[in-house]
Amino acid sequence: MIQAKGYAAQSPTSDLAPWSFERREVGPNDVQIEILYCGVCHSDLHQVRNEWSPGIFPMVPGHEIVGKISKLGSGVKKFKLNDLAGVGCLVDSCRTCVNCKDGLEQHCQNGAVGTYNSKFKDGTPTYGGYSNNIVVHEDFVLHISEKLSLPAVAPLLCAGITTYSPLRHWKVGAGHKLGVIGLGGLGHMAVKFGVAFGAEVTVLSTSPQKEAAAKKLGAHKFILTTDAMQMRKARRYFDFMIDTVAADHDVKPYLSLIRTNGTHIFVGIPPKPIEVPVFSLMNERRSVAASSIGGLPETQEMLDFCAENNIVSDIELINMNYINTAYERMLKGDVLYRFVIDMKSL
Ligand code: NAP
Ligand code: ZN
Ligand code: ZN
Repeated sequence: MIQAKGYAAQSPTSDLAPWSFERREVGPNDVQIEILYCGVCHSDLHQVRNEWSPGIFPMVPGHEIVGKISKLGSGVKKFKLNDLAGVGCLVDSCRTCVNCKDGLEQHCQNGAVGTYNSKFKDGTPTYGGYSNNIVVHEDFVLHISEKLSLPAVAPLLCAGITTYSPLRHWKVGAGHKLGVIGLGGLGHMAVKFGVAFGAEVTVLSTSPQKEAAAKKLGAHKFILTTDAMQMRKARRYFDFMIDTVAADHDVKPYLSLIRTNGTHIFVGIPPKPIEVPVFSLMNERRSVAASSIGGLPETQEMLDFCAENNIVSDIELINMNYINTAYERMLKGDVLYRFVIDMKSL
């Protein structure tokens, strides 16, 4: 077994704290990655606090992982020693079902294996990226360009693909008006991709102090959602809305901003179910939809697109022992826009 150290939550009510554990030996098609940086996603917080469902504890969160290949299995074809490598939200799937064959591993019909808070086929728990190393089958490891700032690439592995994928699926681009609700980790990547794809992008935020920052990211417009007048003026304006809000929220005021035949896409996963009144949809033949991360081929496509177009996340680099404070700040929306852990500090 391989010795690993990291930060874990021992229960849904405990803070994260140092913890040593074991990972499987490097198999013939596995690589071992020395983790250099790991992004902090709001999903980490939802899961360590059991906000979605009962989790598997001890839990080592982290699914925005970048590092260097430190060991190779005998059959590995895609990587060499010291290559940069990334791991996102998935570490395995069945590879045989119709969705796996289509590169939609996130929708594996036999259950994909999550990077943490999940179990491998042999029943052993998976542990994520708040740690010094990880062992993953090469099929679930991404190539990372040397051109980009490595810590700023880490959030692309979840926040990046989760916003890139729906914008590509619904072909959002030139001529479309895109609204991005919530300017956090996912929201700021949705702004960058929306702008890169040629859409007119408006940020809809509860935080007045984020207006200047949103414009700096390339957003064309800003709506303060607590200002009733600004909200009224935007009625029936948007072709697409991407909703990144992590907290329980009333979706009705946002639906009224979508034009006839427009679509509201949820990527945020609030703990409680969302109420959607039928009248809010049928009046303008609006659709509501949701999207989950992205498959391996599309994640590589997104990383390559970012390398070509010089797109990375805007980050605040933190030490591992700052994580509990980082969670409290994330809950207040107090981060521009993603915390990334420097694993040297572990
Ligand atoms: P985050 O950085 O905390 O950003 C969420 C943003 O939502 C906040 O910055 C805030 O922006 C806004 N917000 C917070 N409370 C709000 C409220 N009560 N009403 C309206 N807006 C509010 O979180 P994240 O990492 O981007 O993740 C966002 C959500 O996406 C989480 O639920 C996460 O679990 C989920 N997620 C889903 C997937 C997927 O595959 N679908 C993947 C990754 C993450 P303002 O200050 O601008 O209002
Ligand atoms: Zn995530
Ligand atoms: Zn499958």
